[in-house]
Amino acid sequence: MFEGKVAVITGASRGIGRAIALALAQRGAKVVLAARDRERLEAVRKEADTLGAQALVVPGDLRREESVEALRQHTLNAFGTVDIVVNNAGVGKYGSILDFTPADYDWIMDTNMRVSFLVTRAFLPPLLQKGTGDLVFVASVAGLKGLPQEAVYCASKFAQVGFAQALDHELRPKGIRVSVVAPGGVNTEFAWGTGRTPGDPHLNAFLRPEEVAEAVVFALSQPPHARAFLIGLRPMVEPL
Ligand code: NAP
Repeated sequence: MFEGKVAVITGASRGIGRAIALALAQRGAKVVLAARDRERLEAVRKEADTLGAQALVVPGDLRREESVEALRQHTLNAFGTVDIVVNNAGVGKYGSILDFTPADYDWIMDTNMRVSFLVTRAFLPPLLQKGTGDLVFVASVAGLKGLPQEAVYCASKFAQVGFAQALDHELRPKGIRVSVVAPGGVNTEFAWGTGRTPGDPHLNAFLRPEEVAEAVVFALSQPPHARAFLIGLRPMVEPL
């Protein structure tokens, strides 16, 4: 389905990003795996390898401009082009606003919004040069409605959705398709130690990362004249 396409996935070392990378690899894409944890990225690369896909590991903290520039350069050096950019890296913390330090705020806003900005900005020139391509944002239902105990996380995800909506105006006439996938709870390592506890049985009722990856595949497999701008997903245990 994505034979010959080059897909960059941020936050590909585990969870939803890993599942997206493998779903695209399984369908013929060359995948570029970005996150900080080199060992875990290597493990995902090996999984992609067994699927017969080419995969490139580029470790780095994407809040840093130089890491994003390295990601751009390694991608273009290895594959010569880019077709799909999945802005998925993200972090969260739950709790009362009074329990948030300025450092928590910077960590969440920088990872969820600044990284989306830096990565999008880095890969737009080659996408615009081709006049076709996909930008996908893994946002959250927390980017569509305010939720208790999630003020800063909601702010970061609203920002990401606003960024995507605004970009759609700018980029659609230039052939770039923007899609937002907004899941509810997903059973990953997300917010472990900052509001979620590993092994908590409640997590078993959440969505699986592979289900979110299928929503990304759905967005990316629309025909050229169409797009799925916003896909919302929720587990049955959560209200709308
Ligand atoms: P996860 O398992 O914690 O994965 C987060 C990913 O982001 C990891 O690969 C992590 O890799 C990467 N990352 C974090 N900080 C980074 C940085 N500074 N630079 C580069 N990579 C960084 O969580 P997940 O559930 O898969 O989350 C993926 C996305 O889905 C996030 O945007 C999250 O907000 C969103 N989401 C999650 C849920 C949920 O319930 N799980 C629900 C809705 C939306 P390293 O640690 O190796 O850098």
